[in-house]
Amino acid sequence: MGSLVVEKRHLVFVPYPAQGHINPMLTLAKLLHSRGFFITFVNTEYNHKRLVKSRGPESVAGLDDFRFETVPDGLPATDFDRTQDIPALCNSIRHNFHPHFLNLLLKLSTSTSSVSPPVSCIISDAVMSVTLAAAEQLGIPEYVFYTASACGVVGYLLFPELIEKGLVPLKDESFLTNGYLDTEIDWVPGMEGIRLRDLPTFIRTTDIDDVMLNFDVMNARNAPRAKAVILNTFDELEKDALEVMRTKFGLRLFTLGPLSLLRRRFKSDGDGAFESIGSNLWAEDRSCVEWLEGKEPGSVVYVNFGSVTVMSSSELREMAWGIAATKLNFLWIIRPDLVKGDAGDDSVLASEDFLREVEGRGRFARWCAQEEVLAHPSVGCFLTHSGWNSTLESVSCGVPMICWPFFAEQQMNCRFGCVKWGVAMEMGKCVRRKEVESLVREMMGTSGGGEKGEKMRKKALEWEVSAERAVMENGSSFKNLEKLIVELITG
Ligand code: UDP
Repeated sequence: MGSLVVEKRHLVFVPYPAQGHINPMLTLAKLLHSRGFFITFVNTEYNHKRLVKSRGPESVAGLDDFRFETVPDGLPATDFDRTQDIPALCNSIRHNFHPHFLNLLLKLSTSTSSVSPPVSCIISDAVMSVTLAAAEQLGIPEYVFYTASACGVVGYLLFPELIEKGLVPLKDESFLTNGYLDTEIDWVPGMEGIRLRDLPTFIRTTDIDDVMLNFDVMNARNAPRAKAVILNTFDELEKDALEVMRTKFGLRLFTLGPLSLLRRRFKSDGDGAFESIGSNLWAEDRSCVEWLEGKEPGSVVYVNFGSVTVMSSSELREMAWGIAATKLNFLWIIRPDLVKGDAGDDSVLASEDFLREVEGRGRFARWCAQEEVLAHPSVGCFLTHSGWNSTLESVSCGVPMICWPFFAEQQMNCRFGCVKWGVAMEMGKCVRRKEVESLVREMMGTSGGGEKGEKMRKKALEWEVSAERAVMENGSSFKNLEKLIVELITG
């Protein structure tokens, strides 16, 4: 009797080419691979080379049924990290990506290789919604994955309406500082108390033709063309914002977060080689986790501003001396391009005074395994830029945050973290060492710390339990994953 060979369903993943997008999309890709799907993961050529450089060729060697493909990002070659020029990258994606992606899909669908089944579905980053044109042209269903928080996504989805209402763009530069940004968005039930200043920072322009404003408007308008929207969040955390996405914007949603926790549930013992498929664009310093080993539980301040944030050398100096003044242990990740300016001056960290002050209790590195660091019992609080992945990873590990949001929807994450979830305190835009010191002390519960910090530490532990509940067998994210899988199989 001949055996029945069931062809695998083939999913093509297209992340926006930046760390905070690649991470959750690769996690979802691995998760669906472990549930029997054939995966093609599309990197830009530039990022693919970086992945190889940071982890070695084996990290992107793939498997028979998990492949990498590359497309150009359309940007001219530079000797600096060109993913950091976000408007240039978005502009290039908008105008250059489509033909490359269409060609790739055509190549995949005409592939003569017996191991590669025809493409059954595209899972595209929602900010790569230019992919929809090729999907529609070839009749391939597409889901979009917004890698931001639901509250942040609501902010982006509001862009067209803000323009129609004449609230955006700003009349002139003075509107940045004259209190206008404190205007409340009072017409969206569920988003009460949200101000213009909490919305994604791309509204802070006086130019109706602004690249980022238009890129986000385009993606917001495209979202309903997808079969559904995938989010890395969980229902209990973002109930109201998710409801706004469903009712006001008519979107069908699959909330699958925290994806890293969900992924862990489906990891099998034989996954070792597969796990070496890495997503880090910078080389990871493994010794950070070792350094945490010897430290008391909850005794370390973890400082990391993600992959895009930059700061001036004076902001760095204030932060450094503020952290030093707490007398606490700290692990601080200083990306090679964190400090802006030609000189990228981080010499304060190498000054004799400073080194003497923090001797034995400070550890610096360029990049770390953040999820492992946050999950380490020694970490007591996280000084963060409020990127969504960092925020959710912190929530998943029960670690309270001090937020210094930089751009995009980070302001919204910070606001929700402080006001709705009760796990965060915001640090002023203008960094002052005294404020850094007192916020850290408050959050860590050391001398000078009080009730507020205690409440937040407790609340953070409650959210950790709630995040774990979401990925348990009857949890919302677990059930949504099962539903999504059925849809992806049955088409
Ligand atoms: N990350 C990491 N090591 C680092 C810094 C960041 O692994 O030293 C990861 C972090 O865990 C998160 C992502 O990079 O998954 C950053 O995404 P996020 O949305 O927090 O911020 P972005 O980099 O997009 O501003």
